[in-house]
Amino acid sequence: MVKKKPLLLIDRDGTLITEQDYLKDPRKVRFLSGSIAGLRRLSDAGYQMVVVSNQSGIGRGLMTQRDVQRVTRRFLGMLTARGIRMAGVYWCPHHPTAGCACRKPKLGLIRKAARRLKRSWKGCISVGDKWCDVALGRRTGGRGILVMTGYGRRSLRETGRHPAADFTARNFQSAAHWILKQHR
Ligand SMILES: [Mg+2]
Ligand SMILES: [Zn+2]
Repeated sequence: MVKKKPLLLIDRDGTLITEQDYLKDPRKVRFLSGSIAGLRRLSDAGYQMVVVSNQSGIGRGLMTQRDVQRVTRRFLGMLTARGIRMAGVYWCPHHPTAGCACRKPKLGLIRKAARRLKRSWKGCISVGDKWCDVALGRRTGGRGILVMTGYGRRSLRETGRHPAADFTARNFQSAAHWILKQHR
């Protein structure tokens, strides 16, 4: 039996595009070096990929849902132009203290994404620059990768208080390479 490829849960800011606190201007979407190449390899290999991000700037009153929708449209447009398909983009709009069920590392958004894709939320691989991103994949019974872009180095200095990453990647391209090696 051919094992189904895991669903990939990918962080946006500091992982695929440059980290800018509370990005609300679509013209400021900038892909990090290697992230397009990594996404293309995973996409070509048949992985379903969803972007999952915490956008607490909405809950903090610094931006609106509409701002995030506009940034998302631009982000997806730039990917589509390069032949890369995302199976979905999900974000938590809540303030960190709101106690919602969707702020990473909670699994609310993942369950929703999996339901829409008609697949299990179990055994995902997550990639991101913070520990909440690493915890996400691990909480699905899968794996979590920490990238050294964005807040990655700062996150690594907090090691010890957090679950270990299954892999620490220089950037998203190196994370993609590792994922492809696991399921060949
Ligand atoms: Mg991030
Ligand atoms: Zn939320």
